[in-house]
Amino acid sequence: MNLRTYITFKNRTKAAYALVVLLQLVTSNITYTNQETLSTKKIFSRILDAIAQSQVVHQYNKFIANAFDLSGVPASDQMQILGAEAQTAVGILEERHIPIRYVQNLDAAARTTINAIEIGINSYTDHDSYGVKRCDMFHEAIHAKYHDYLFPSISLFGSWLTALAATKLLLNPKGMFKLLYLLTLIAGHHVGRWIQTMHKTYCERRADIEGHYATQCYRCVTEKAQNIKNVRESLINLIEEIEEIESRTDLSSAQDELCTKALTLAKNWLETKKKYLTVEENETIAANLKQDNKLCAVHNFV
Ligand SMILES: [Zn+2]
Ligand SMILES: [Zn+2]
Repeated sequence: MNLRTYITFKNRTKAAYALVVLLQLVTSNITYTNQETLSTKKIFSRILDAIAQSQVVHQYNKFIANAFDLSGVPASDQMQILGAEAQTAVGILEERHIPIRYVQNLDAAARTTINAIEIGINSYTDHDSYGVKRCDMFHEAIHAKYHDYLFPSISLFGSWLTALAATKLLLNPKGMFKLLYLLTLIAGHHVGRWIQTMHKTYCERRADIEGHYATQCYRCVTEKAQNIKNVRESLINLIEEIEEIESRTDLSSAQDELCTKALTLAKNWLETKKKYLTVEENETIAANLKQDNKLCAVHNFV
């Protein structure tokens, strides 16, 4: 008996039901891990994280990384030292360490790509505290540890393939009904994008939580929390100021357009920040580290 005759309509209905349940289970778990707590890791997160650190993923990362040149230029000695310290502290073997590079035009202070931790050339000034830079490097080291850069494409391709395979297996459309493949592919694409967004939030929260604890310094985390607070407050003030300017009646259409653009930019930026820990959550981590009087080598002396 071949597979197609075995999958009768009744069986297909059952299989479709099982697939929906499975999909719901996976997606609800992703949503769940989205709210990763500060002290305990959920079982589903542990499985995801174990896969991300498996030999297969290491090898895949290495294979893809070989195809790309390093971008930008080597970062300062201070950032290289912090980057190496962070990678060792989060458990990345030295032979797998990635370099720290300065790049132009980054829309975040730093990011982790397949072969480097990249820092915007203007991301940090002399006024930025040591704790902010150190926490940022630890956050990025966690992204490197779990190869987070690889996963958005895996979840998208995975959703496309699942959609196509499920259509073939459950419906096996013939003739003009083959158009169904296109429809399910579009649906799969949207599911993939949704999983990507959920996964991104999960990764950012995990990088903050695990990275900040790995700093083993309450003063570093306190400085980072203060920095986030300042950035958010200045963004909110900026939005209020632009809204006030925009409400004036004597603006030219060009000025009005500029205001709208600036407002969208500022609001989007504020929205992106929601993927990360709140100021209060950062302060909780700092308080936990303070209880054990954890301090880094620099803050031990300053
Ligand atoms: Zn991040
Ligand atoms: Zn410190």
